Amino acid sequence: MRSAKDYLSSLKDGRAIYINGESVSDVTAHHAFRNVATSMAGLFDFASAPVNQELMTFDNNGERANRIWQLPTSYAELVERRKALEAWASLHAGFMGRAPDHVASCISGLYMGIDVFKAYDPARAGALDSYYRYARDRDLYLTYVIINPQADRSKGAAEQADPFLTAGVVDRDAEGITIRGAKMLATGGVIADEVFVTTIQPMRPGEERYAMSFAIPMNTKGLKMLSRKSYEDAAGAIFDNPLSSRFDENDSVLYFDDVKVPWDRVFIEGNVEMCQKQFHATPCHVYQNYQAMVRLSVKLKFLAGLAHRTAEMNGVTQFPQVREMLGQLAAETGMVDALVAAMEAKGSHIGPYFIPHRHTLYTAQVLTQQLYSHMLNTLRELAGGGMIMLPSSVADFANPEIAGLIEKTQQSPKANSHDRVKFYKLAWDAVGSEFGSRHQQYEMFYAGATFVTKGHSYRTYDWAGSDALVQRMLDSYDLAGGSVSPSKAA
Ligand SMILES: Cc1cc2nc3c(=O)[nH]c(=O)nc-3n(C[C@H](O)[C@H](O)[C@H](O)COP(=O)(O)OP(=O)(O)OC[C@H]3O[C@@H](n4cnc5c(N)ncnc54)[C@H](O)[C@@H]3O)c2cc1C
Repeated sequence: MRSAKDYLSSLKDGRAIYINGESVSDVTAHHAFRNVATSMAGLFDFASAPVNQELMTFDNNGERANRIWQLPTSYAELVERRKALEAWASLHAGFMGRAPDHVASCISGLYMGIDVFKAYDPARAGALDSYYRYARDRDLYLTYVIINPQADRSKGAAEQADPFLTAGVVDRDAEGITIRGAKMLATGGVIADEVFVTTIQPMRPGEERYAMSFAIPMNTKGLKMLSRKSYEDAAGAIFDNPLSSRFDENDSVLYFDDVKVPWDRVFIEGNVEMCQKQFHATPCHVYQNYQAMVRLSVKLKFLAGLAHRTAEMNGVTQFPQVREMLGQLAAETGMVDALVAAMEAKGSHIGPYFIPHRHTLYTAQVLTQQLYSHMLNTLRELAGGGMIMLPSSVADFANPEIAGLIEKTQQSPKANSHDRVKFYKLAWDAVGSEFGSRHQQYEMFYAGATFVTKGHSYRTYDWAGSDALVQRMLDSYDLAGGSVSPSKAA
């Protein structure tokens, strides 16, 4: 198992990160990233702690390996792994969307579908087989870039004004392929070990140049990360922004400046159809998004906790209307929890592996894309101005005159002034700060725009079962009247 120390020192590898007009020499020490790097290291600490061995690791041919790489062969193993994912997500209350368990689930899902790769090209299947083992045995933190830059969405990658805007193959030789162009964004890229690069958006014939799939270390020559604004940098004291200051996992555009990728890291090259198959003809898409739903379920429980405490803080829990709002929120949180359990209970074997139920996953995706914003709105409604009218920063507490006034003006039936301020600063960071707002966008889009997730739901629903119910009812009567009972109809 990997230690926090090992993870942090591996990030000092000369990777090319750019922010605020400068390049970053050490991501673990830079004020824009150092806290999130430490939070990520905390996940490795937790997973490798001897006390958590049973919870967080599995027996991998006599060695212990992180459960994020586990390939469940039964319902019981799937549930055991989920408990590890929940424990990890609890450490950040679900706010690190691309923690290492996400892309580990993606690569594990690809590996469980290795036969699809073998049918495509045994050499590329061999590369994937080795890569899964390599990443698992080193417990690597992987991120991915699977979406092309927006530019003009009415056109494909090859039709954009600049055909090298979107990352694609510019050269291939005996050693490997050379990549030029950009991918839209890598969450967690600046603090990951490696990146999995491919395209999930459907492509057309003629776009083969962009139809590749590979994985490379973040310090590969020519790979450049263009960071967005750092919320961690702007957060100030932890007390003032307890989430932004520690869990801003970052997003960056990736630019491939003629990056050389060796063949033993290439899983697909020049095959449009295979780029879709890797996600949907293997357990990959379901397994990676099942992890996302486990994480989100933890996050929604956290939001429900914020709502309940907000009501207590303001002494409004007894009002019937407030209980109704909390009851609604509790039901919504319970629904997502139940959907995760249903994905597992309705799971099935694909070869030797036990995989969560596909359509139940897409049900959860479609519903939660709408639910998250709704839950944030409920929190805002419950809080009124409480989340806003707070001391400007921790510095106010250090000034005796202001501290006295804070004590007088920040009152609650449930907490002293310090604890009231502490709580509401946390609530605002989750709901309304720039960090909180980015999370709303994340939950709306991380699995694709709504037309995409609804498309998956449409594609995988049991329409035949629904049609049969309609037909049975139609068959139970005719022009002559309702003489045939539904139980007798064919
Ligand atoms: C915070 C955050 C983190 C992310 N992290 C990652 C990451 O780590 N790795 C990664 O690869 N990606 C990541 N993404 C990207 C994410 O997968 C995309 O945002 C998502 O797939 C939607 O693509 P898009 O942003 O290009 O939006 P678009 O595809 O441009 O869609 C935006 C809107 O345009 C309209 N629209 C566009 N095309 C159509 C169409 N064909 N039909 C109908 N309407 C259309 C819809 O209204 C849609 O909601 C992240 C996104 C966010 C917001």
